[in-house]
Order: sequence, then structure tokens, then C-alpha cells
Amino acid sequence: MKKISRRSFLMIAGAAAAAGALSACGAASSAPASSAASSGAAASAAGTDKKWIIATDTVFVPFEYTDETGAFVGIDVDLLAAIAADQGFQYDLQSIGWDGAVAAVQSGQADAIIAGASIKQERIDSGWMFSDGYFTATQTVAVPSDSKVASFDDLKGAHVAVKNGTAGADYAESLKEQYSLDIAKFDDSPTMYQDVLSGNSAACFEDTPVMAAYIKQHDLALKIPDGMENDGSPYGFAIMNKDNQPLLDLFNAGLKNIQDSGKYDEIIAKYLG
Ligand code: GLN
Repeated sequence: MKKISRRSFLMIAGAAAAAGALSACGAASSAPASSAASSGAAASAAGTDKKWIIATDTVFVPFEYTDETGAFVGIDVDLLAAIAADQGFQYDLQSIGWDGAVAAVQSGQADAIIAGASIKQERIDSGWMFSDGYFTATQTVAVPSDSKVASFDDLKGAHVAVKNGTAGADYAESLKEQYSLDIAKFDDSPTMYQDVLSGNSAACFEDTPVMAAYIKQHDLALKIPDGMENDGSPYGFAIMNKDNQPLLDLFNAGLKNIQDSGKYDEIIAKYLG
């Protein structure tokens, strides 16, 4: 697993995109490239002869995060490892942050994303192709431990914090008008929580199990009021280019196998048991 900053990844991605654009122009001028590609693929199960680049978040506990020994771990990390071993494919997992990961897959610099990505109709409509769901989570709010906030009425006119481009941010947006919320956007979860801890925001929005785990892990002076969550949806592994369908098929087949074998339950219990 390589860990690189979002900024440097995007710079590399930009350079690679420029190079890719040049080679794509070259390919377009010379006619049939497809027959060579398909005969190679027939030699092994589709998608197992390639090293897939898979992008993920940096801090989304317990799905992906760096533990006290400095190892990059989590449910997504272990699920992907187990599924790849089961299906015999290779990958390079790159921890670049939520919106960086989304941008990398959108631009073709990564093949797929695994980052507790909620399966949402708006995403499907904009070109995301999701695997079967592998975990269901709602989104909700966290407030300071001594806060009296118990409903959205108590947040009327408040500053709230969200993480860019997430289901939590969408949830806040959906309540913005009704409760006159003033929404501040952050690149990652830790800085978003910090905005609430510093008293700048009255609440932040994120996935319920993730907030619970992060608050516990860091012993933060935050709490999650009851009854403020949305309906939620399952998490899926996703591609955004149909050429990567073989990878999506491998993921689904492997997910089913590790669910049948008990390996999936073992991974969930390791982080949430
Ligand atoms: N589940 C949320 C979403 O899909 C958050 C994902 C994340 O922050 N890694 O938007």
C-alpha cells in the first residue's frame, strides 16, 4: 500500500492523464487494436492478469485508517485483501482521501474506489457502477458532549461541518433550507470533527458507525444524539468506467465467497465486534 498526499497524487494523475491523452490519440490513428487485447484476456480469467489501482480514503474508521503501529488497516482494507486472494487478482491500494479518490476514478487514474462509498441513485445516475452492497450505514450528526441539541430544530441557523462530496454532506444539504444551516466543507474527517470540538460548528455530519468508532478511538468530547439519522444505504465497491467491469465481477464473486465462508463475518467482528 502506497500512501501519498492527495495533492501529489492529483499532480501525478494530471501528468498521467496528459500522457494517456497523447497515447490515446496515437491509438485512434492506427486501426484495430481490440483483437490483440481480447486474445490476451482469454489466456486467464478476465481481470486477473492486471494490477488494478484501487483508491481509498485516508481516515474513515473502522473502514480505512492508520493504526497505532503505523499500518494501514480497516474493514475495506481486509475485505479487499480477502476478495483479491479468493479471486486471484492483484491490486495497489492508494490512500488519497475521499474526494481525491473519487476524482482519481473519475479521471481514470484509478480503476475503482473502496471507501465506505454509499450506493446512492444520484451517483449511479452520474456514472458510478457499484458492486453488491457489503455493509449498511445511515448518516447522522455528532455534537459536543455537553450540547443540548436533540433534534434538527435545535440546530436552526447553526454552523455545521461536512466532508466534501459525501453522503453526510448531501444529508446536510437536504436539511439546509428548512433549518437555515450554514454548511462548512472539509477535505477529511479529522478536520471536520476538529471544527466541532473547537466550537466553530455546532454539529458535523457523517456515517453513524464511523462517527461512533472515531469518537471512541480518539476519546473525543462528542456524542451522537438519538433519532437524527437518515434512512442510510449500503456501501459498495465502485468503478466509473465500464472497461473495468471484469474487476467489478471479480469483487462480487469474491464477496459472495467470503460471505459464504465466514471470512466476511470474521473481518467485521475484528473491527466492530
Ligand atoms: N459513506 C459516505 C459516502 O459515500 C462517506 C464515505 C467516506 O467519507 N469515505 O459519501
